[in-house]
Amino acid sequence: MTTPTPASPLAPAWLPAPTDPDALDPKVWSAGTARADDGGLAVQGVSAAALAAEFGTPLLVMDEDDFRARARSFREGFDSTFRDLCGGADVYFAGKSMLTLSTARWAAEEGLRVDTASGGELAVALRAGVDPAHIGLHGNNKSVAELAAALDAGVGRIIVDSVDELVFLAAFAAERGQVAPVMLRLTPGVHAHTHDFIATAHEDQKFGLSLAPSSEGRDGGIAGVSPAAVAVRIALQADSIELLGVHCHIGSQIFEADGFGLAAERVLGFLAEVEAEHGVALPELDLGGGHGIAYTSVDEPRPAAEIAAALAADVRKAVERLGLTCPRISIEPGRAISGPAGLTLYTVGVTKTVDADAPDGSTASRRYVAVDGGMSDNPRPVLYDADYTAVLASRTSDAAPALSRVVGKHCESGDILVRDVWLPVDVTRGDLLAVPATGAYTHVMASNYNALTRPAVVAVREGEARVIIRRETVEDLLRREVDPQNPS
Ligand SMILES: *Cc1c(COP(=O)(O)O)cnc(C)c1O
Repeated sequence: MTTPTPASPLAPAWLPAPTDPDALDPKVWSAGTARADDGGLAVQGVSAAALAAEFGTPLLVMDEDDFRARARSFREGFDSTFRDLCGGADVYFAGKSMLTLSTARWAAEEGLRVDTASGGELAVALRAGVDPAHIGLHGNNKSVAELAAALDAGVGRIIVDSVDELVFLAAFAAERGQVAPVMLRLTPGVHAHTHDFIATAHEDQKFGLSLAPSSEGRDGGIAGVSPAAVAVRIALQADSIELLGVHCHIGSQIFEADGFGLAAERVLGFLAEVEAEHGVALPELDLGGGHGIAYTSVDEPRPAAEIAAALAADVRKAVERLGLTCPRISIEPGRAISGPAGLTLYTVGVTKTVDADAPDGSTASRRYVAVDGGMSDNPRPVLYDADYTAVLASRTSDAAPALSRVVGKHCESGDILVRDVWLPVDVTRGDLLAVPATGAYTHVMASNYNALTRPAVVAVREGEARVIIRRETVEDLLRREVDPQNPS
């Protein structure tokens, strides 16, 4: 079925015409995804056609075994690598990437802890039965109600983001006769991008306490002293604060080890300064999340054990140079656990082919394949220019690959799900398409734009699919309306 396809001048350089557009690159699909004997896609032995028939489309399909295996590989990889050096490592699943009762339980059952970033996420993790001592609460602007909920639940750590928040929390916990377990979020001046990172001394962003000395004593700070150092002084003096350690998170979808290593080095340097100034060795260091995954074949993610080994080498160097006892390490992977475990099934509706102007001045054809979802179930292409790929999921095809663009059904020309992909030219109404690596930042970012109802989420394990989030209905949407013509 090898059909030679001429390259298109419209195709980006990274996207060569495939010899077989039905092939599955194992990098971007969950471990349980394969083509069945009839050519259709199957997840853990359940066919895409059967899933679509039973649950409808668009449908987010989570390969539960894949999610669990990735969670385990982070926990085992990091804990064993850091055992001798730092007494081990804790892995917090970044709930914000894909938080449901089920996914929180899968993470906890595999020995992970759970990070939350709002009162709502905290409530989901608690309802899932996650041990409160194993929950972290993040946020640059937590509400009073969120802080109260965290203290009442007895969460293991509140990650404090600013001097303002620390001062408030110290007084708030004291007033309630409670002690808040606190990690301070530092901005180490390292910004990781997908293929490089920039290191700066100063910080111009909403998150975190800068390590750079303030030029003035503003916001309750001290001129010539970093906000991070000011926060440590306040935290150590407050009886209502238990200062556990420090945290940093340098970005997302990061493939290189350098950024994590440099951030660790800077933050460990800060811990050494704290020890010199206060005689206190803080016991915990959280190095955040952001580990990259393969959305398309160009991305080259590394296995968890390799990420751990590279980081451990940098941490070892830094603690030896600084003469520090290594604090216990934690990390917060989100997408690296949930992302590759998910795929979205769509049904194809309208197709059309247009003449498009290529960057080289020529004209070439582009096929538009419209599906029954769009930017409301996956806003990442619109928000971040994120690239995805797709395959024909209900069958295979011998037709030639055509440079295609998968678009949604919203009233926006920017409503693109897959900007560039080679799909068989006979993809047509009624076919199923599958988009891989949609387990993270899709369900949790979904909207009701154009009053579309949000898709169901099913978990597949050992040949069985079960709904973990039911499909939204129009009734659900109408339920929030307060109708002045029909006061109830
Ligand atoms: C978003 C976030 C994460 C997870 O990022 P991923 O890219 O999903 O790994 C971890 N920690 C913090 C503080 C975050 O904001």
